[in-house]
Amino acid sequence: MKFIFVSGGVISGLGKGITASSIGCLLKSRGLRMNAVKIDPYLNIDAGTMNPFEHGEVYVLEDGGEVDLDLGNYERFMDLRLGRDNNVTTGKVYQAVIENERKGEYLGKTVQIVPHITNEIKRRILAAGEKADVTIVELGGTVGDIESMPFVEAARQIGRELGRENVLYVHCTLIPITGTVGEEKTKPTQHSVKELMGAGIRPDMIVGRCAKEISPAARAKIAMFCDVDEHAVISCPDAHSIYEVPIILEKQGVVDYIVSRLRLETAPRNMDRWERFLGDVLSPKTEVTVALVGKYTSLADSYLSQLEALTHAGAQLACKVHVKFVDSDDLLHCDPAAILGDVDGILVPGGFGIRGVEGKIAAAKYARENGIPFLGVCLGFQIATIEVARDLLRLEDADSTEFEPGTRDPVIFIMPEQAGVTQMGGTMRLGAQRVLVKKGSKAATLYGSTDISERHRHRYEVNPEYIERFEEAGWHFTGRSEDGTKMEIGELDGHPYFVASQFHPEFKSRPGSPSPLHLGLVEAAIACKNNH
Ligand code: GLN
Repeated sequence: MKFIFVSGGVISGLGKGITASSIGCLLKSRGLRMNAVKIDPYLNIDAGTMNPFEHGEVYVLEDGGEVDLDLGNYERFMDLRLGRDNNVTTGKVYQAVIENERKGEYLGKTVQIVPHITNEIKRRILAAGEKADVTIVELGGTVGDIESMPFVEAARQIGRELGRENVLYVHCTLIPITGTVGEEKTKPTQHSVKELMGAGIRPDMIVGRCAKEISPAARAKIAMFCDVDEHAVISCPDAHSIYEVPIILEKQGVVDYIVSRLRLETAPRNMDRWERFLGDVLSPKTEVTVALVGKYTSLADSYLSQLEALTHAGAQLACKVHVKFVDSDDLLHCDPAAILGDVDGILVPGGFGIRGVEGKIAAAKYARENGIPFLGVCLGFQIATIEVARDLLRLEDADSTEFEPGTRDPVIFIMPEQAGVTQMGGTMRLGAQRVLVKKGSKAATLYGSTDISERHRHRYEVNPEYIERFEEAGWHFTGRSEDGTKMEIGELDGHPYFVASQFHPEFKSRPGSPSPLHLGLVEAAIACKNNH
């Protein structure tokens, strides 16, 4: 059981998650069993209720955990399947401690941050460590934040208890370049390391984010003042693709350093698959543009897994996928052709609430009528179904009861057996569920299987009363839940690619094994472009 703690300083948003994921990717490529934990010092129990506009997307795990998007990076870079316990938040920790206190488990002691909160944090980290050779623990936020202090203290104690050959501390900082000669400034890094040392943690490795490669002089200075080995000062310049970062780190000896410091026994390096994938990402032979029609389009992170799934699908086809972010409301104020006329495919992702819905419906209509490849995911599946109902079934008022509770034609609604539970909350269908796919359908071809499992995060379903009429109109439900009552995939007749799913295929997309439905979209987009 070995741990690598990854902390950050100077500013947030340094790509600490990508650094942590990349280190994990490299160690995994040496045959080590990996696990990863993300620590989020906020008070929320999980990311389920958090606004994607502020925090980026809510990532969904197999077990239904709604977690920070960094867990998506871990799963993609280390090809892992994580669970909700891999995301530790202040909310979860305090909840557990307070529940224990109420049960009298602390035997009359005064319950305090140290040792009760820190012990609970350690318990969770150590439990994750049991499952792997090496566990990466990423400390969210920056060192010095009030909220992260108990976590930093727990990380320090684990280092002390397990010993230096079992625990390694990596600190990520920013190295700004200023002045007319473009000199790298190491002072912020020095201050940040001082802060970390003040909390009792001496970093073993420093990863400096810098616009360019860090010069030997700056490297020496950081090593000297921060008291780390010179070859443990790593430069992480801006990369063309996040998938290049493992290679950038490896070239600077990151793996060798970690392997010797933690006395790891490794297998021969195997990065063949990763390098092939990276080659396809970096030197595509063709390109297409896909419109992503959403409402959080000003923060690309709110659709992170969709973007990654498009990258994975594109790489498989040696195609660069440019994404055009379209604010769905714009489609109501302007002619959709003016906005979507130049794209080769349209993707409508998931979402909640009524804002932007009519614009998404307009996008689906435009795609359907003009033969533009279309993929709808979750809410995208529901709005495609509403659009088909309004236009092909001639049910003008067709809607989801989420947006129009009194609609005459609730083609999307809450299943009666779910309706009772609404009051108690917890009605969301979450996590991996089996989907049976119709033989001979596009989906069956793309998945290469008629029995699949995909992740869910939604409340509303297709109303079974309308299914027959949809099927007659050519909107076929080619994927259904195990018991046949819930519609999972829709495919439209007579269209090059008009496909939508109630589940989220983007969450299981990986470098080298893309989401089948995204692959279908990009394939169709390439064909669509070549035809024009
Ligand atoms: N709002 C819809 C529902 O709850 C879709 C959710 C989503 O797209 N994730 O069913």
